[in-house]
Amino acid sequence: MDFRLTEEQRMVQKTIRDFVNKELIPLEMDVLKNEREGRPGLSKEKLKELQLKAKKAGFWGINTPEEYGGANLDPITSAIITMEQYRTFVPFEFGGHANNILYACNEEQKQKYLVPVIEGDKVPCFALTEPSGGSDPQMNTTAVKDGDYYILNGEKVFITRGMEADFAIVFASTDKSKGRSGGVTAFLVDREMGFKSEPIQTMGGTWEPAQLIFDNVRVPKENIIGEEGKGFKYAMMFINHNRGWVIPARSVGAAERLLEMCIDYANTRVTFGKPIGTNQAIQWMIADSQTEIEAAKWIMFRAAWMADQEGSWNSDKNDSIKFRHQASMAKLYGTNMVNRVVDRAIQIHGGMGFTKEFPIERWYRNLRVWRVYEGSDEMLRRTIAKHLLDEQIKPSELMPSIKDSVVYQ
Ligand SMILES: Cc1cc2nc3c(=O)[nH]c(=O)nc-3n(C[C@H](O)[C@H](O)[C@H](O)COP(=O)(O)OP(=O)(O)OC[C@H]3O[C@@H](n4cnc5c(N)ncnc54)[C@H](O)[C@@H]3O)c2cc1C
Repeated sequence: MDFRLTEEQRMVQKTIRDFVNKELIPLEMDVLKNEREGRPGLSKEKLKELQLKAKKAGFWGINTPEEYGGANLDPITSAIITMEQYRTFVPFEFGGHANNILYACNEEQKQKYLVPVIEGDKVPCFALTEPSGGSDPQMNTTAVKDGDYYILNGEKVFITRGMEADFAIVFASTDKSKGRSGGVTAFLVDREMGFKSEPIQTMGGTWEPAQLIFDNVRVPKENIIGEEGKGFKYAMMFINHNRGWVIPARSVGAAERLLEMCIDYANTRVTFGKPIGTNQAIQWMIADSQTEIEAAKWIMFRAAWMADQEGSWNSDKNDSIKFRHQASMAKLYGTNMVNRVVDRAIQIHGGMGFTKEFPIERWYRNLRVWRVYEGSDEMLRRTIAKHLLDEQIKPSELMPSIKDSVVYQ
């Protein structure tokens, strides 16, 4: 077993850390000011400028295949980049990226949707959740065939970037009798086709999600992604990739930065004539945070390693049960860990932690939702327990072989 990073991974980590320290962290106070005054934390122009700077340093299209101008980095290197990037809450994202579902498009669709998204000319949104519930989406949104068109009717809720998206990847029922495994189809729906959106205000305050309304929206049959009835498979491809290492890596990055802030404060804040870090009560919070960060990091890296071995993360190949199991644990543990760390960060900073002079409250509000979306705590526990109780996974198994694992259909 070798836990060392490769030379290339070390270089990537250093370059991103330098970029975050030099370009992003100095913007934090401006981001807070903008958001508190109701504007996006980063303007579109500033985001573009930062993306071009990152591109100059070689970071463009982190997971994008080389044929589309990307770096096509593997999941472990991507996780390292995400960890470094999330050491700040500045809402930066690297350019040249597209939702992995769009790689399941045909050539014509790729030119119309995938390429403009990679180039930053179009914004998509992922529209799965319905008012009936995100944990058990009933797919009450229907798509009924009418000649060369499908007529979409229904409602989606909590759709990130739903207000600004140029098009939505919409999951709709094409055959209710077949349920989710064969009766849900993914459609590319342009805003001009007529869906409406309304913002939903949240305690997060950034990237406010939206409600999307489809009222007899006519979508050409050419806008189906992949095969009819296979939509849920694409939805899970996107979700599992986020569960496996994207959200867990964000959790580790944010937690490491928060812990560093705690250490600085514990060493400098003096009460009763000595720094608060000399008290065991504070030391335990610091020790627990570090231990939990370390645990979350390695559950996450193992999920990333499994995804890399399996090769399903950037294709429409199915995920194995073993990957899904690991991904569920990585997201469950990582997001709970960072919520405990941010809570301790407020405690260690005392009243100052609760003020708007410090950015900790921004993390505190925004990190909470990580335990809700892309698989809530309860749904992840349900998945993990089911695999164990059905004896598809054995708790004592070390380093499971991916090759002989059952895949989800
Ligand atoms: C800020 C934000 C952004 C989002 N972005 C998107 C997006 O871009 N696209 C998209 O499609 N969706 C998005 N979502 C939706 C998100 O995925 C759902 O909110 C999530 O899946 C939970 O669904 P729900 O809110 O309907 O809760 P429900 O499904 O109603 O669940 C309510 C509670 O009950 C628990 N629960 C449900 N069933 C069980 C059970 N059987 N056993 C035990 N507990 C159970 C849940 O875990 C949860 O705690 C977003 C949500 C938020 C808040």
